[in-house]
Amino acid sequence: MNSDIRIGYGCDVHRFAEGRDLILCGVKLPYEKGLLGHSDADVAVHALIDALLGALALGDIGHFYPDTDPRYSGADSMELLRKTLAHEAFSAWSVSNVDLTLITQKPKLAPYIADMRESLAGALSLETGRVSVKAKTNEGMGFVGRLEGMEARAVVLLTAES
Ligand code: MG
Repeated sequence: MNSDIRIGYGCDVHRFAEGRDLILCGVKLPYEKGLLGHSDADVAVHALIDALLGALALGDIGHFYPDTDPRYSGADSMELLRKTLAHEAFSAWSVSNVDLTLITQKPKLAPYIADMRESLAGALSLETGRVSVKAKTNEGMGFVGRLEGMEARAVVLLTAES
């Protein structure tokens, strides 16, 4: 039996905006602002989808789910994640683990980390021990420090046996 592994990396940024929900890893967080985007702007899930697509050199989220396509207006990014994993290219692969870092000055994400891990683990059919979600500030610097937006970075490992 031969085994193969692939690593994928993804990152994304979204701008904060008034009158939007803040949704991260499919979890709605209480905050005075949300993230601006064509979809629900779940920056965490977008980084994860890019990591998954990157692992198999399939392109990026903008290629799969163009923001010019009205079908994806207000889209639930968790649905896009499930749709991505259902793509035939992933049929021979299993997600081994995910490591995701969210970078934002506000809100404080620590109280929601467990919910976010559980939400992603459900979509990925993984135990939560294989899904890491970490949060950092940007020490007050740059666009994150100015509370203009937030950033997410994700790494995934895929394994296949043939
Ligand atoms: Mg995005």
